[in-house]
Amino acid sequence: MGAGVAGLTAAADLARRGADVTILERAASHGGKMRHVMVDGRGIDGGPTVFTMRWIFEGLFADAGESLSDHLGVYSTNVLARHAWRAGGRLDLFADIEASVQAIGDFAGAADARGYREFCARAAAIYRTLEGSFIGAEKPSQLDLVRRVGLSRLGELWRTAPFRSMWSALGDHFSDPRLRQLFGRYATYVGASPWFAPATLMLVAHVEQDGVWLVRGGMRAVADALRGLAERQGASLRCGADVTRIIIEGGRAKGVELANGERLMADAVLFNGDAAALPSLGAPGPKPAQRSLSAITWCVNAPTSGFDLAHHNVFFAEDYAEEFRAIFNRREVTAAPTIYICAQDRGLQPPPPGTPERLLLLINAPADGDSRDFNASDYIERTHSLLASCGLHIGEGSAVATTPSGFDALFPTTGGALYGMASHGATATLRRSGARGKIPGLYLAGGSVHPGPGVPMAAMSGRLAAARLLEDAAGRSTSVGFAPGRHSR
Ligand SMILES: Cc1cc2nc3c(=O)[nH]c(=O)nc-3n(C[C@H](O)[C@H](O)[C@H](O)COP(=O)(O)OP(=O)(O)OC[C@H]3O[C@@H](n4cnc5c(N)ncnc54)[C@H](O)[C@@H]3O)c2cc1C
Repeated sequence: MGAGVAGLTAAADLARRGADVTILERAASHGGKMRHVMVDGRGIDGGPTVFTMRWIFEGLFADAGESLSDHLGVYSTNVLARHAWRAGGRLDLFADIEASVQAIGDFAGAADARGYREFCARAAAIYRTLEGSFIGAEKPSQLDLVRRVGLSRLGELWRTAPFRSMWSALGDHFSDPRLRQLFGRYATYVGASPWFAPATLMLVAHVEQDGVWLVRGGMRAVADALRGLAERQGASLRCGADVTRIIIEGGRAKGVELANGERLMADAVLFNGDAAALPSLGAPGPKPAQRSLSAITWCVNAPTSGFDLAHHNVFFAEDYAEEFRAIFNRREVTAAPTIYICAQDRGLQPPPPGTPERLLLLINAPADGDSRDFNASDYIERTHSLLASCGLHIGEGSAVATTPSGFDALFPTTGGALYGMASHGATATLRRSGARGKIPGLYLAGGSVHPGPGVPMAAMSGRLAAARLLEDAAGRSTSVGFAPGRHSR
């Protein structure tokens, strides 16, 4: 149930291996968080915008005897992201490390440029240690992780630095606080604060360095490609099918009941919503945990001027610590939030000056959408004024806002948390649910379960859940690993 990235991916794998798969999706369309919001008749990506780890999708399609490139057009970009500070300074990060070293040297001096080179090497090493042992493998316990990495490589595991905060570890490499801010922002990719996220999450920097892809037709095209694959393999999709209860008989998941009272029985149920929603569906779920970040977003169709936007842009206020204190301690949106803008029409060619372009604006917010409402218009002025202080003016146009309450309505029982539980502390990532639910016949996939949030991770979780389900159905255990160039059959 659920036609998010993980649900569609799992359905493709299951159907390919001969299972009779029906995907039940409560929304009117597939994709989940990977949604298109219509503004002035134009579809604007209102969810994920950064597409990485393309190899996971290539592997999924290759295992089905297809080629991803036949179904999804992607192209690379030199500029990974453009950053600007209200207090002054602009910095581009490039796909080419040497170009970024040069830019960081010009921006903050030779020591920080050297620090960046070391930081890249450290992020790559963390990624290499965890790729096969954690990211592409079944959820490990702490002991499993040690075993998988191997006793001879314990030093490498230690150097993934789970016991240090990301913010503290970034201080090893950067003296300019703006660079700490820029790279600390990677914690927010999993909905965490850089002050509480483990330094391990520096690996996100390596994932980006390894390739950020722009998708022809926007990220929505990824959801379409996954849906197409699942359907070609034989899965069927029913939208508008809201599951209100997981039917449990004799301690086993036996089917689901829909809001209209319809009951569908099945050999297994795979749940793609947030694992925190399981108790509301009558099934055992994980222990309640601190929620990850939510957001206030605006999908905008308007002309811009004064700042040469790249595809991905970040505008920073000075006090980054205050932003996360406000969210996680006081449950507020800070007065001067960091603003992310995806300028979706900026890729190979910028739109002609003065013409409306499609933008996603995002500021972080607490995931309290189920207990209080945030009025997006209370935040739009301060957002525009911060952008103006960086030189960017957004002209007259149309916008559709989504608040934490809006996200909670789309993804029930989450409060609008967009990344499952917060990845705070050394062991949070190991406390996420695995592919097997707490009762037989129930399987879990999605950004709230192992290996975690983000489009490629959710896809990986879908593959892991499908593999576990098939393994249990066959009554035998098989080892499944997904890594670049190594696809399952
Ligand atoms: C604004 C925003 C920006 C993001 N930016 C990025 C980014 O740049 N890069 C990146 O990699 N990731 C990003 N993410 C995170 C990424 O989008 C998610 O981690 C990923 O898409 C989650 O996929 P999922 O498989 O967990 O499914 P979800 O997208 O959570 O979808 C779950 C589906 O299950 C359905 N469902 C739930 N309960 C039921 C039920 N009871 N009955 C029937 N259907 C049900 C829902 O309607 C939904 O369609 C972003 C997310 C958001 C919201």
